[in-house]
Amino acid sequence: MAVVRGGQAEAPVYLRNRPLAEDAIATLIKQELTAGRRLCIGFDFPFGYPAGFARALTGTSDPFALWEWLEARIEDTPRGNNRFDLAGEINARFPGIGPFWFNGLKRDIAHLPRRDTRHGHGMPEFRTAEQQTTGAFTCWQVGGAGAVGGQVLTGLPVLARLKRRFGDQIMAWPFEPLNASVALIEIWPGLINPVVKRAEAGGGIRDAHQVALLARALARLPAPDLRAMLDVTAPEEGWIMGLGFEDKLTAAAEQEATSQLRPPPLRDDCFALPAGVDWTPVDIALEMLRERLHPVVAVETRRIDHALGHVLAAPVIAQRSNPPQPNTAVDGYGFAHACLGEGDQVLPLCDGRAAAGVPFSGVVPYGHAIRVLTGAALPEGVDTVILEEDVTLGQGAIAFRAGLKPGANTRKAGEDVVEGAVVLDAGRRLTPADLALIAAVGGDEVQVYAPLRVAVLSTGDELRAPGQPTGEGQIYDANRPMLIGLLERLGHVAVDLGIQPDDRATLRAAFDRAAEEADMILTSGGASAGDEDHVSALLNEAGAMAEWRIAIKPGRPLALGLWKGTPIFGLPGNPVAALVCTLIFAAPAMAALSGAGWSIPQGFTLPAAFSKKKKPGRREFLRARVRQGRVEVFASEGSGRISGLSWAEGLVELPDGAAEIAPGDPVHYIPYTSFYSP
Ligand code: AMP
Ligand code: MG
Repeated sequence: MAVVRGGQAEAPVYLRNRPLAEDAIATLIKQELTAGRRLCIGFDFPFGYPAGFARALTGTSDPFALWEWLEARIEDTPRGNNRFDLAGEINARFPGIGPFWFNGLKRDIAHLPRRDTRHGHGMPEFRTAEQQTTGAFTCWQVGGAGAVGGQVLTGLPVLARLKRRFGDQIMAWPFEPLNASVALIEIWPGLINPVVKRAEAGGGIRDAHQVALLARALARLPAPDLRAMLDVTAPEEGWIMGLGFEDKLTAAAEQEATSQLRPPPLRDDCFALPAGVDWTPVDIALEMLRERLHPVVAVETRRIDHALGHVLAAPVIAQRSNPPQPNTAVDGYGFAHACLGEGDQVLPLCDGRAAAGVPFSGVVPYGHAIRVLTGAALPEGVDTVILEEDVTLGQGAIAFRAGLKPGANTRKAGEDVVEGAVVLDAGRRLTPADLALIAAVGGDEVQVYAPLRVAVLSTGDELRAPGQPTGEGQIYDANRPMLIGLLERLGHVAVDLGIQPDDRATLRAAFDRAAEEADMILTSGGASAGDEDHVSALLNEAGAMAEWRIAIKPGRPLALGLWKGTPIFGLPGNPVAALVCTLIFAAPAMAALSGAGWSIPQGFTLPAAFSKKKKPGRREFLRARVRQGRVEVFASEGSGRISGLSWAEGLVELPDGAAEIAPGDPVHYIPYTSFYSP
């Protein structure tokens, strides 16, 4: 299922079975109606049968009567459905053989031929719509590769229930005028097949490409084209949306396929600050970033062996249970618990054994036991296992003491994860253990965000790159290696744009390049309002600059803005302030931009090993580390002390208000590692 809302495409989601899909669709309808939005839902199966069928079955040619007729008879659960039987029952009402054919079951079904041996049933093979396509299947074939007949029989009941549930808020095309909030339309990805094929060649799942591209193509079509496509009379058979307009539909899909699935840019005013606030408290600044930033990176499909550290763009749903079937947790002997009597037990052994991956195919007779090895699926007739250490093995029999509980030493199917459950949420940065979980529940590809690319540049005429000779008044650029390292730890991709002199034209060119190559720009130096502070001057020039004067120490004003739509974080030049501002402000902002969502670093309350008195008015972060369970701080608070940054293993956060801390008092310590991803 693929959703496009307000021009924005969501990553397609995989729904394991029809009941799940019906739930998801009903939830979506409710949600959109509640939000006061309209919704057009396309279904990839015919809304009607060839002319004459509805009347033959229900006595009227009203397609909805047929929907209801089928709804009353189709049984459809995640474990299976009765479509083959129903197709046979329907065939019995027609002369000759047919119109339905194909039997997907082992047992024979009366009146349902396995092969296409039909004749004399009197129904047309195709609807008028299908006659105009190439490659559409007949709705009479109820199974087999590519067939659609099963989907019609089982899908129409879903539509009938949705219509019943939402009443006149839903209209079905082309049988009713589309004058309600929700429209149900028939679609067929076959119309954009060339585009789907090309997309598929680049990897990913065919069905995902089909729904995503078709939904996006329809969403981008101009209203007159849509109106023309919908202007159809097909009162009984229904019609395929877009049939006869393949050129328009294909062109729209082509445009979508070539433009990456990319979220909207940030709003121009996303860094605006409330007027009249002098020094913004840290929490308010963070809240503003949290509200206004959203993912700016594209969504891509990755095989799980290439997905470590990537951020999920869609939840992962279990495609099978874990374990998929009941199995034994130990090496031992399995039997039916109900056959045990009082006191000590002796059970005859049956021939054969069950091992992991090598199941026992027979049935274990009641009152018998069978040899089982860890991980083996429990054979039929076995629900309990005794540990091999707890039995005495005799000639063709085992003996053991009483007291074993039913189900002992077995693992139930789905006791860990049930098929269909959400095992990981969107926004999760995938860990090695997550990959194990995804693999175990049958996943091999995931929808993830492309990594956030962050351009890093240092500004200042005084700066020299490491290794370069220095002249009078020159210092080495310490911030760039630090920031690039931090980005790597945070799971982003750094784009190194070097050192830029305090020169507006050069800096402008560097920003242009950064906006081209990266999703976000991180600068250090030149960010306050002084003469040589060209970062803020340039952003001002672009009209998208806000000077964030945040009540934080260490810290100078941050220059936040957009350069050609790309967010810039202008950090203070001072390395201590640059690090603190990166961890406290830029790290959560980048997490939001990367799709990982907002996060609050895990801190710990620990006794202080220091004394400190602070005035009210701003939050303070001290370079700190833990030794013998107590928090030490660096001897000097001087903001130029890079050695203290390196000495520290984290930060102590002191509250906005006044504080007086004595040794032993509890303080809030945040290890550097808490800022990084797991
Ligand atoms: P600024 O924010 O440009 O006014 O710089 C504040 C202080 O930080 C000045 O002493 C700069 O020399 C110093 N500084 C700026 N950028 C860096 C850097 N990349 N590495 C080390 N020190 C820097
Ligand atoms: Mg400077």
